[in-house]
Amino acid sequence: MSSASSSAAALNQLSDAQFRAEVRAEFETNYPEALRYPSHRLLWREQETWYRRMAGIGWIAPSWPVEFGGMGLSPRKLLIFLEEQERWGIARFQDHGIRMVGPILMQFGTQEQRDRFLPPILSCDHRYCQGYSEPEAGSDLAGIRTVAKWDNDGWTISGTKIWTTMAHDVTHMFLLARTGSDGPKQSRISFFLLALDSPGVTVRTIKDLSGAEELCEVFLDDVFVHAADLIGEINAGWTVAKSILGFERIHVGSPQLPGSGLEMLRRVLKRRDAHILPGVEDRIAQLQLDVDHLALVYEGYAVALDSGLSLESDVSMLKLWATETFQRIADLTVEIAGPAGGASGEVVLAGDAVSILGSYYRARPSTIYGGTSEIQRNILAKHVLKLPQN
Ligand SMILES: Cc1cc2nc3c(=O)[nH]c(=O)nc-3n(C[C@H](O)[C@H](O)[C@H](O)COP(=O)(O)OP(=O)(O)OC[C@H]3O[C@@H](n4cnc5c(N)ncnc54)[C@H](O)[C@@H]3O)c2cc1C
Repeated sequence: MSSASSSAAALNQLSDAQFRAEVRAEFETNYPEALRYPSHRLLWREQETWYRRMAGIGWIAPSWPVEFGGMGLSPRKLLIFLEEQERWGIARFQDHGIRMVGPILMQFGTQEQRDRFLPPILSCDHRYCQGYSEPEAGSDLAGIRTVAKWDNDGWTISGTKIWTTMAHDVTHMFLLARTGSDGPKQSRISFFLLALDSPGVTVRTIKDLSGAEELCEVFLDDVFVHAADLIGEINAGWTVAKSILGFERIHVGSPQLPGSGLEMLRRVLKRRDAHILPGVEDRIAQLQLDVDHLALVYEGYAVALDSGLSLESDVSMLKLWATETFQRIADLTVEIAGPAGGASGEVVLAGDAVSILGSYYRARPSTIYGGTSEIQRNILAKHVLKLPQN
């Protein structure tokens, strides 16, 4: 059976081992060698050919139900799909449309909205960024100040979004804006989809510590959004936004992130006599065990999802575990790389070009985005451990 001809239904009939072999064959045969394990986040134009291929063979939305054009994979098969992607070093594109907007439209969108917005996500013509955070609102998202005012047959939106990943490289943004003035802060927010080429939108990139320009500010100056592009009820944006938080945490909490750190650690280890550092083998073994253990627990969540159980607050544990382990791995990698660990950009170690600091810089913000570690601990303290609140 050739990969390209394997329908979603046929793939789901395969055993896990057969499915893994099928996915692996597709990735190893067709993913460009030059794009494996990139040291920086790739722009759309660099990976467009690959993802258009994935769209063409129906593999772009592995978790979406078949009725909406996805592969309809069970969580266990989805895990295998993601593992194989990671193992082969396939770069992820800005796939918020697939991971977040699609599921939201399936749950809260009207049929007209699904018909209009889902196909261009599947074809990659619409690619989304997440417009939640603002200069005065991050952890306390209910404090957003962006305002949407009713204007004839739609909304006029004004405000500033910040830390918007890859806004300069996508076509659309999903965003939260304030639409009411009464009641608790959470009940005055609505959820909109916005084309970034709309009049009044200005996107400005922010250069980070590594010199990369992946984060953006997005200025919204009387931007008109048609009434039909509000998703869910007016003032119910908080409920819409919260619906994907669990999935965001299970995604960031996958062993992929620390696994990619271990891959970099191994590449550095092969090329230096790191074993002269006291205790280094113990530390590596401990980190490897932490990642393996995380993978087992993560799989438990996947199996639970498979059986129809929903995600509870304890999923926050995964994000803490994955990101903090990733940081420890990145710290050790820099340490054992010696002077090369402090060099920015790619360094050549015994003929292999690696970006050690790149891995380190990827690890640092992982405990901030998608909800900081402090916020995850608060959630666990309150909802899992039931500790008393101040
Ligand atoms: C690389 C990166 C990519 C990002 N991409 C996006 C994106 O695409 N879209 C988007 O909308 N946002 C994005 N963000 C923003 C991110 O969601 C916020 O940075 C995050 O929610 C924290 O908000 P803040 O920066 O305003 O910090 P603050 O909320 O001001 O927090 C500052 C510090 O105070 C702590 N703190 C805050 N409240 C509490 C509390 N109640 N209890 C204990 N400690 C607390 C925090 O943990 C943190 O250490 C991104 C951030 C980064 C770093």
